[in-house]
Amino acid sequence: MRPFTYNGFASRVIFGSGTITQLEAETQRLCVSRALVISTPRQKDMAEAAAALLGDRVAGMFTGATMHTPVDVTEQAIGELRRCRADGIVAIGGGSTTGLGKAIALRTDLPQLVIPTTYAGSEMTAILGQTEAGRKTTLKDPKVQPETIIYDVELTLKLPPQVSGVSGMNAIAHAVEALYAPDGNPVIDLMAEDGIRALARSLPAIVQTPDNPQARSDALYGAWLCGICLGSVSMALHHKLCHTLGGMFNLPHADMHAVLLPYAMRYNALAAPHAAAKVAAALGVDDAAIGLQALARAAGAPRSLRDLGMPEHGIESATEVAASNPYANPAPVTPEGIRKLLAQAWAGDDIQGNGENLPFSEHMKS
Ligand code: NAD
Repeated sequence: MRPFTYNGFASRVIFGSGTITQLEAETQRLCVSRALVISTPRQKDMAEAAAALLGDRVAGMFTGATMHTPVDVTEQAIGELRRCRADGIVAIGGGSTTGLGKAIALRTDLPQLVIPTTYAGSEMTAILGQTEAGRKTTLKDPKVQPETIIYDVELTLKLPPQVSGVSGMNAIAHAVEALYAPDGNPVIDLMAEDGIRALARSLPAIVQTPDNPQARSDALYGAWLCGICLGSVSMALHHKLCHTLGGMFNLPHADMHAVLLPYAMRYNALAAPHAAAKVAAALGVDDAAIGLQALARAAGAPRSLRDLGMPEHGIESATEVAASNPYANPAPVTPEGIRKLLAQAWAGDDIQGNGENLPFSEHMKS
C-alpha cells in the first residue's frame, strides 16, 4: 500500500427520493430561522416549492443565479440577503446555483443547505470559481463548503436528457482525475471507481427513459461520490483545459467536460496505467479513453469543441494559456501535446488504438 493522507468529510448528506420534505427540519438543525432561497431563473418553481416547505423560515428569495458565478450577481444576491436579514442560504439547482450560494458564504460565513438538481458535484467541495471582468478564477476555502446537502432523486427526473448526459460526464471527469491525483488515497479510489460505475450504467438509460427512477438514483449517487473526489484531491490537465476554455470562450461547462475527457484520458493513459485500468474496469471496457468516448456519445454529448462553438484559431491561444501554468499531471504537459489534444477534440476525432501515436508518447519514451 502506498503512503497516503486522508481527510474525512465535513458535510451532512441526506440521500433518497422525496427527501426535500426534510428541508425544514434540516434548516432548523443548522439554526437557520431566516433563509434566503436561491436558484437560477429556470428553477424558480423549484425554489418556490422549497420556500413553501420552509414556511416561516424563509426570509427572501433570489432567483438570478447564472453560470460561472459572476461577482456582480453575487453582489446583487448579498444586497437581497442584507435587505431581508437572512441568517442562512438554501440553494436549489445545479452548479450555477451552488456556486452563488458558496460565493455568498465566502463573504458572509453564513451556513448553506444545498439541494443539487444536476450531477456537477460542486456541493461536495470547498472550491469556488468566480468570474469578474471576463476572467474566471478559482479558490479553495473551508468557508464555502456547504454544511448540509439534501439529494432528492425526484428533483432530477425532469433534468433534460442532454443536460443529464453531459452533467454525468462532468461528474465522471472528477473521478477519472482523482484516480491519478498525486494526493490520492485508497478511499477516494473506491469512491471514484464506484462513482464511474454508477454513472456508466445509468446515463445511457436516462437518455432513453429520462424519468427512470432507478437510473436517476444511480446517477445521483454516482455524482455524489464523484463530487467527493473533486473536493478531496487535486485535479489535473483535463480540469485545467476546461477552466481555460470556459474562461476564454464561455463554452458550456458540462458539455466541454464531456467532449474533452476521452482525449485527456488518452493523453494520460500511458503515464497512469493503474488509473486507466481502474477507469476501464469501472466502464466494463478494455480501453479507458475509447470507453469514455463511447459513453459520452451514448449519453448524447456533443462530439467536438467545434460543435460547442469554439473557434479553430482558439486552439493556439488556449494552448498558450493552458501550458503556461499547468496543474500537476501524470504525462508531461507540453505545448505540442496540448495543441494536438485540443485539435483532436476540436475536430471530434474518434479515439483509436492504445495511445502509442498520440502527442505525449514521445515524452513517455524519453
Ligand atoms: P447549471 O447549474 O447552469 O445547470 C445546467 C442547466 O440545467 C441550467 O439551464 C439549469 O437551469 C438546468 N437545470 C438544473 N437542474 C434542473 C432540473 N432538475 N430540471 C431541469 N433543468 C434543470 O450547470 P451545472 O452543469 O450543474 O453547473 C455548472 C457550474 O457549476 C459552472 O459554473 C461550474 O464552474 C460550476 N461547478 C463548480 C464546481 C466546484 O466544485 N466549485 C464543480 C462543478 C461545477
